[in-house]
Amino acid sequence: MASTVSDSSAAVARWRRAQAGITVLLLRDLRGLRRLIDPSRLQATVPTWIEAVTTLVTRYSEVAATLAADFYDGEREAAGVAGTFTVPLADAPPAEQTSNSLRWATKDLWPRDEADATAVQLEPLDARLDAAMVKANGAMQRLVANQGRATVRQGVDTDPQAVAYARAAALGACFFCKLMASRGSVYRTAGTAGRDANDRFSGDASVVKFHNNCHCGIVPVFRGQRFELSPHAARWDAIYREYAQGHPGDQLRLFRQALTEHDSNPLPKSI
Ligand SMILES: [Zn+2]
Repeated sequence: MASTVSDSSAAVARWRRAQAGITVLLLRDLRGLRRLIDPSRLQATVPTWIEAVTTLVTRYSEVAATLAADFYDGEREAAGVAGTFTVPLADAPPAEQTSNSLRWATKDLWPRDEADATAVQLEPLDARLDAAMVKANGAMQRLVANQGRATVRQGVDTDPQAVAYARAAALGACFFCKLMASRGSVYRTAGTAGRDANDRFSGDASVVKFHNNCHCGIVPVFRGQRFELSPHAARWDAIYREYAQGHPGDQLRLFRQALTEHDSNPLPKSI
């Protein structure tokens, strides 16, 4: 009998908890590395900090990829598909990508001409350093979590028995993630979509776009499995259809508004 897979299951919840555990440790280590930045010697010390954080992110990315591979293996086994398969682990993000993100996060630390500076750039250095660390934390969380999500996608892309993937959003996720989760399974290729092909069919890159501090996961769908939206994702889908669909250019705003009024799950305060 065909098994059913959903964006919400005990296994997805376990993976999310494990990934959240990694995030806690990552943030703890990032707090420790902040000491490397000497506010009176930014030019000399920010590059040292960037180097140390890049090394840290590489290490955590490997852990995130391994956890995701464990999740993939469990899902594959539960699906009962034939053959064995080794999930290729996603490589850590290139050092250049990490350091670019860190340079972006710290850009307001540098002195500016008062005439050209934004209000944020004129804050005291302490406040700007705090703000830079918040940005860096979010960006590094994303890079690390992305390696787990990329590992599941690589699995789906290369496993002959995998046909699709779906986004799994937490109950407290933001409107964008809720919308992506409500889209259900996205097929790998026209060939694998077969007669299940529909308007949600493949190539929708947004389903695999993740913002900073996003805790969404990716769920693989295997040959012979039927994908079913979880009750909460089905609710988001119904809200979308009722309040936002058919309003080109305004769907996201309408969906967000409708969620605040009709979804029992809270939206995060800011995104
Ligand atoms: Zn989100």
